[in-house]
Amino acid sequence: MHSDIQEIVLSQDRIRERIAELGVQISEDYGDEPVLMIAVLRGAAIFIADLSRQVASPIELDFMAVSSYGSSTKSSGVVRIIKDLDEDIEGRHVLVVEDILDTGLTLKYLLKNLASRKPKSLEVCTLLSKEGKQRVPISCKYIGFDVPDEFVVGYGLDYAERYRNLPYIGILKPAVYAD
Ligand code: 5GP
Repeated sequence: MHSDIQEIVLSQDRIRERIAELGVQISEDYGDEPVLMIAVLRGAAIFIADLSRQVASPIELDFMAVSSYGSSTKSSGVVRIIKDLDEDIEGRHVLVVEDILDTGLTLKYLLKNLASRKPKSLEVCTLLSKEGKQRVPISCKYIGFDVPDEFVVGYGLDYAERYRNLPYIGILKPAVYAD
């Protein structure tokens, strides 16, 4: 385990198993219909790489970047599109792939924006959802895990751009924030 990590919340094996299950579910739901999977950078990049390889339906990938936390651990509620999609989504099945649903503010904004582009369908797959934390109601069809309301890192999630490459999800030691 990395020396900055206090506790592992989700092991590499549990993440792998759950993603395989999500892949089966998504494949069953879309069947042979093509689906455009959109990852919200940068946190969801690792998740979409693993998830997309477990989906049997014909898929395409696209990426969006929105402003997020910076190096702080509190949600600002301010969302700005930094990188927009390359693809036109009108009339297509769209599956937004997110790393973590916290207050839901980021996703709410994003879904409103994407819905205005008239996709055939618009669903969300989030790896993590913080228990009892959603400030705005979001309909999220696929959820990997419900996690306690603590700041987590690893498997794509960062603290000040670090720890994204940890293969598991964990909680940082408090001393790390003090640095
Ligand atoms: P929301 O708008 O739902 O509050 O926040 C969503 C975004 O905040 C996520 O996509 C992620 O970038 C960031 N975030 C929320 N909770 C956590 C957390 O526990 N750890 C990390 N590393 N990022 C988080």
